[in-house]
Amino acid sequence: MTADQSATPAGLHPETVVICAGRPGHTASEPLNVPIVLASNFHAGSTEEDRRAYSRTDATPTWEALETAVGQLEGGHAVAFSSGMAAVAAVLDLLPAGARIVAPADCYFGVGELLADGQQQGRWAVDRVDLTETATVQAAVTGAHLLWLETPSNPLLDIADLPALCAAGRHAGALVGVDNTFATPLLQQPLALGADVVVHSTTKFIGGHSDLLSGITIAREQTLAERLRHRRGLSGATPGALEAFLALRGLRTLALRLERGQANAAELARRLDQHPAVSRVRYPGLPGHPGHQTAAAQMTGFGAVLAFEVADAPTADRLCDAVHVIVHATSLGGVESTIERRSKLPDQEHVPPGLLRLSVGCEHIDDLWNDLNTALGPATRLGNPA
Ligand SMILES: *Cc1c(COP(=O)(O)O)cnc(C)c1O
Repeated sequence: MTADQSATPAGLHPETVVICAGRPGHTASEPLNVPIVLASNFHAGSTEEDRRAYSRTDATPTWEALETAVGQLEGGHAVAFSSGMAAVAAVLDLLPAGARIVAPADCYFGVGELLADGQQQGRWAVDRVDLTETATVQAAVTGAHLLWLETPSNPLLDIADLPALCAAGRHAGALVGVDNTFATPLLQQPLALGADVVVHSTTKFIGGHSDLLSGITIAREQTLAERLRHRRGLSGATPGALEAFLALRGLRTLALRLERGQANAAELARRLDQHPAVSRVRYPGLPGHPGHQTAAAQMTGFGAVLAFEVADAPTADRLCDAVHVIVHATSLGGVESTIERRSKLPDQEHVPPGLLRLSVGCEHIDDLWNDLNTALGPATRLGNPA
């Protein structure tokens, strides 16, 4: 039983697509969802149609259901991977030896480490640039093979001008990749704004419940998708059956979860912005955010992640210890709110020491605010003994 590629009528809203896409055709007595298919190999056949032989190279119906749904949302051809990092690595593996990469100064730290690692091995050269400075990126991309973008960025919530930067990358002949994990396919569709390939850590908002690791690439061109699928087969970075099933199950409620998380994030951003112990709030939905206009032009919402700054790292750590409803943990995009001081990660000198990243979940806003406000109280006093 496989997902029906044509089952979703055109012109539906994304909130409906997350629910309808990637399902089997309507057959009496058959299930509504593509089941968890546990298979390494399939019965051999004799025709072109019988292409499914071995799952590492030929996929399983469970992975394909997830790919169909996310592909429809992003407007491209999706390939599911074992993690977000595996998806990013597959894109980097397409580059020729000695390639030049232009990448964000602020991006997911694991991607930064992967880029640095490849540079150290002599695989490529990397220019890390501030994506908020469009002219700087436009100048840097000349002669580059890959322009890697991430917006909103993790953890500084920087906003990159996607139409302008994608155009610059394509003009320079570079492949343009966008990490769309923070925005999700519901708030931003980079392929429509000029990107060649989008990646998601489906571990985060798409999965939505902090119970799986997986990733996905979505390419505008079928040929690029085929190259990525080939990479997946060679590297063996295939999704797990249960993980792919859970990621699609999570996707079904993405619109609902995001609506609540985003409304909560906007309200917390406004309140934190007024709090005397908070020196800066970074949330693109705040009118004072430097990327507010750009985000408003290219996104249909500002997302459910924000960052805010307190006096210093010890103050931030005390706040993490003091929250009870909000979970002190890494990662993001779950139904539960999570908070973390990101400067504690390696090679994050550009991150202010007292910066806390807050992924806002679906709890009641008053419970979230009371938790934060109470935690901020003692943190302020301890941070400022005078
Ligand atoms: C978490 C994350 C990744 C890496 O994804 P994994 O599923 O942990 O491998 C990549 N990009 C962003 C923006 C992330 O937040």
